[in-house]
Amino acid sequence: MEYRKLGNSGLTVSEISLGNWITHGAQVDDGTAKACVEAALEVGITTFDTADVYSNTKAETVLGHALKEIRRESIELCTKVCHPTGSGRNDRGLSRKHIMEACNASLQRLQTDYIDVYYAHRYDPNTPLEETFLAFADLVRQGKVHYIGVSEWTAAQIEEGAALAKELRMPFIASQPQYSMLWRVIEKEVVPASTQAGLGHITWSPLAQGILSGKYIPYEALPAGSRAAAEAGAPFFNNLAGRWLHDDVLSAVQQLVPVAKEIGLTLPQLAVAWVLQHPYVSSVIIGASRPEQVLENVKASGVQLDRDILSRIDEILNQWIERDPAKTG
Ligand code: NDP
Repeated sequence: MEYRKLGNSGLTVSEISLGNWITHGAQVDDGTAKACVEAALEVGITTFDTADVYSNTKAETVLGHALKEIRRESIELCTKVCHPTGSGRNDRGLSRKHIMEACNASLQRLQTDYIDVYYAHRYDPNTPLEETFLAFADLVRQGKVHYIGVSEWTAAQIEEGAALAKELRMPFIASQPQYSMLWRVIEKEVVPASTQAGLGHITWSPLAQGILSGKYIPYEALPAGSRAAAEAGAPFFNNLAGRWLHDDVLSAVQQLVPVAKEIGLTLPQLAVAWVLQHPYVSSVIIGASRPEQVLENVKASGVQLDRDILSRIDEILNQWIERDPAKTG
């Protein structure tokens, strides 16, 4: 495993992080979740990503349990606030009230005294940003949070946040957007704005939720035990079928398999390595439903892809790459 600085901050993160959306507390049992965390630690992953909303708060509990015996200083624990965690009017959003309550609840579930990076999971148009960032700054001063990040914010929102963070002298250091060979909407606007603000990117869904693993074969049934098969019976999963599960997209993805093989990689490794080629990415968050996936995907760390490989990827996927910055968030 190789490590990178998170933006202009002094915080070091593993260039591959493990996330637990959809898996812990939902798709996989707690034993498998723990085995995935253990596999991650074994190969040098130190950065873990979760959110209060994942699996209706159960994901944080499962992760907290899995990491309980680990020396706290040896890992970076990151979580998020914004999406609803209850039915009350204040159980959501980025008001001071919800941020304070949500942070305390996350600390309890994660069994820790502090969060390394605390993210605004989305922008909240119904709360003044000054109220949100003041609450974040207070959490930092209280020592409950070390750094602040945002997820799926537009360039304009990041710029507004960066100006306030400067005024409040608050360590605003990360942006967490979706980024993969298929989903490149950050490149035009978010990346320049984040770079200007000194933020590093910790990106999500490098495999487009498994589509870029190559295991979904066009015109064939969904593989048993896959996220897409699970999604068919659980509508709260993230519209995987609607977006990419189409035979023409899957056919294009299959053409990447020999490209990966040519350079001694599997397709999931190529997909993770592709994200890591970008210097504005500090870490790529992978998901895993079993430990073998962690062990396979982390081999992308340290891989250099040459220009020819990168242009062949672009040619093959060309028609299916989403680049519209308006799709942020
Ligand atoms: P990926 O794109 O890496 O998809 C992970 C899934 O792909 C796995 O759960 C598994 O699903 C499948 N997979 C992984 N490796 C392999 C492999 N080698 N071979 C075959 N299948 C494989 O990432 P996620 O979509 O899970 O997102 C990663 C993390 O990003 C999340 O856990 C979360 O922490 C963060 N995130 C943040 C968001 C935000 O709004 N900030 C939104 C979404 C995610 P299966 O085996 O079930 O098919």
